Amino acid sequence: MSDLTVDTITHALLAGDRVMLGRAFTLAESARREDRLLTEQVLQNLLPHTGRSTRIGITGVPGVGKSTFIEALGDYLIDKGKKLAVLAVDPSSPKTKGSILGDKTRMEKLSRNPGAFIRPSPSGLSLGGVTSATRECVLLAEAAGFDVIIIETVGVGQSETAVRDMVDFFLLLMLAGSGDELQGIKKGIMELADGVAITKADGDNLKRAQQAQSDFQHALHLFPAADSQWTTPVWLTSAVQGLGITETWLMVERYVEHTQANGYLTYVREQQKILWLHEHLERLILQAAMETRSGKSMAHIEQEVKAGHVLPSAAARQLFESLGRDSTG
Ligand code: GDP
Repeated sequence: MSDLTVDTITHALLAGDRVMLGRAFTLAESARREDRLLTEQVLQNLLPHTGRSTRIGITGVPGVGKSTFIEALGDYLIDKGKKLAVLAVDPSSPKTKGSILGDKTRMEKLSRNPGAFIRPSPSGLSLGGVTSATRECVLLAEAAGFDVIIIETVGVGQSETAVRDMVDFFLLLMLAGSGDELQGIKKGIMELADGVAITKADGDNLKRAQQAQSDFQHALHLFPAADSQWTTPVWLTSAVQGLGITETWLMVERYVEHTQANGYLTYVREQQKILWLHEHLERLILQAAMETRSGKSMAHIEQEVKAGHVLPSAAARQLFESLGRDSTG
């Protein structure tokens, strides 16, 4: 990427250059120090041109219908004249080297649409690395003129919390089950959601979907009021029949209006930036501790901790204190 300079990337992105957007995403996902510095300088230039999109997180277990739903919603938004970027946060990539969300074959139709830009989850990074790269990709896409950004994740592990912390509206997709759907749902995930959409409300499944809608509405009523003063709605969708797609977007718009009016949107975005600052700092400190040259190596300290010779917290403090010595000499 040596031909890329801060200025060429900045200008190309501001002109909406999609090829450059892809390259900028790759830079944001890179762990190399030169790439990190280049990305940060580009983003610093682009900051005044960011923040204007509507950021939507979408989650649900594999098979719930996420990609079919995002294709339908994406088509609808593009018809409305929106430019849509779809990013993914897939926690399985680093561990299994395969992904839960799947590969490029997903959302095939939408990916051919010139109004959409689809980016799979960066691979080979820890969840923290994916989260950090995805936050940067949101800003890059915004500067390139994308006005709706969907971040897709899967109902596994901590990725949902990570995505909740980088979007304005968090949508939970749920499948109507055999009447006991509420049992399988972690209360925590329901609490994260700003909207719950029941998928595949068509054919034989319609009745069950209606029952699930009413079950969820009841369950949500038992939760304390959200800080946003927003009551989480539950609605029916069928991506194949095009049901509930317009409604989904209206819900997002209503939410944005509501939280703009009461100041919550600004507050949340500020909090998200602070969280990003703290998380990134933690990662840098951990990385510095891993690479420290003064004192004992991390591998040695880990052995001592494993063997029970040293208290983990005491070892961490010693390592941390050695970092200062590292930088001063
Ligand atoms: P994902 O794993 O959550 O991304 O789910 P997919 O979008 O791949 O969908 C899983 C399966 O459900 C596929 O076989 C789809 O054809 C099917 N499906 C998705 N949306 C609908 C829908 O609205 N109605 C019906 N009947 N089937 C659907």
